[in-house]
Amino acid sequence: MSERSEAIAARVEAFVRDKIFPYEKDPRATSHGPTDELVQEMRDLAREARVLTPHVLHDGGHLTQRETADVLIRSGLSPLGPVAVNTMAPDEGNIYLIGKVGTPKHKERFLAPMVAGTARSAFFMTEPAEDNGAGSDPSMMLTTCHMEGNHWVVNGRKTFITGAQGAKVGIVMAKSEDGACMFLVELPDPAITIERVPDTIDSSMPGGHALIRIDNLRVPADQMLGQSGEGFKYAQIRLSPARLSHCMRWLGAAKRAQEIATRYVCNRKAFGKLLIDHEGVGFQLAENLIDLRQAELMVYWCADILDQGHLGTAESSMAKVAVSEALMRVADRCVQVMGGTGVTGDTIVEQVFREIRAFRIYDGPTEVHKWSLAKKIKRDFLGKAPA
Ligand SMILES: Cc1cc2nc3c(=O)[nH]c(=O)nc-3n(C[C@H](O)[C@H](O)[C@H](O)COP(=O)(O)OP(=O)(O)OC[C@H]3O[C@@H](n4cnc5c(N)ncnc54)[C@H](O)[C@@H]3O)c2cc1C
Repeated sequence: MSERSEAIAARVEAFVRDKIFPYEKDPRATSHGPTDELVQEMRDLAREARVLTPHVLHDGGHLTQRETADVLIRSGLSPLGPVAVNTMAPDEGNIYLIGKVGTPKHKERFLAPMVAGTARSAFFMTEPAEDNGAGSDPSMMLTTCHMEGNHWVVNGRKTFITGAQGAKVGIVMAKSEDGACMFLVELPDPAITIERVPDTIDSSMPGGHALIRIDNLRVPADQMLGQSGEGFKYAQIRLSPARLSHCMRWLGAAKRAQEIATRYVCNRKAFGKLLIDHEGVGFQLAENLIDLRQAELMVYWCADILDQGHLGTAESSMAKVAVSEALMRVADRCVQVMGGTGVTGDTIVEQVFREIRAFRIYDGPTEVHKWSLAKKIKRDFLGKAPA
């Protein structure tokens, strides 16, 4: 930990524990995520405590990935923590991307309110399975864009768009003749209709995950992010850090689940002794400790690679698979050792279990990462194999 990230992380942890844990039972934390009223209330507190958007520095710079890990792990100690301090997905990844690729005008108009925590954003890439659009394979993108005068016109459908309901900024992906493109749009826009927000297993992200129709959305040419046809290249810039930041936040949540499970088994008795003294229970928490530590090491290893200036595509795939699968095991064991209490909403353990189940799918399902790693193994082998 650097001195500056240690100081920020300590402030964030104290804030999340003291001010945000009490909100976990707030009825405004709904099954479609916390309401915007709740988000703003928590952000006002975060602003006051000087922990809002803590990974972005006063001069507009960004903490290193390693430092970001220190801070985001602590923000994840509550499922509401990342929303409260503005380190949540998809905003954290969108802030990073606009910071890297946006023009000064983009930054002033779109990025500044996101960093200030007054605007939420959404990232529009995935398309409905029923249309056979972009999903695990983004190259299947069906949403189109073409130029008309000095505007781009965008048409298509998108799905699982986290936070679209209530967002003020959108990054929309579509295909032109040149290939994939990204656009910055102000939301809401009459050309973008929310068809529905499905019920999903998770519930931490404001606005849920919407199904969207885009009908003749007109975007001024200067709101294209980067160049026409380069959209997948920019998606790559966002991809590794965004994947890793999910690992950071959910690692924090899994650590908290372990804390709660530990408290339970060190107080509850069965068959004449504390649960922790039954080997079957103690071993589960011991295995959690090992999984948590391995997940943490994986996060810091990958963060270092990104900090060295590499894209880290393969490394972030490895980290995403290892961490999401490890945290799933941790959450499941926490539920199990808490008996019936583990599956109730009385603690956040059951929510952490649900959230991490979804995490194994978004930002690339486990199998897709393994498949792309297998392709790399083959490429590397054939590249080195003697003729
Ligand atoms: C909670 C949540 C939030 C999300 N937020 C956003 C968002 O904000 N913006 C956005 O654009 N998208 C978002 N997504 C979409 C997410 O990125 C996609 O769900 C993911 O890319 C998988 O695409 P799909 O759902 O179409 O699954 P499909 O492409 O239909 O794949 C289904 C399954 O097939 C298997 N599979 C696919 N390819 C392979 C392969 N090569 N080898 C082996 N198995 C394979 C995997 O098990 C995969 O889970 C979100 C999804 C969820 C669940």
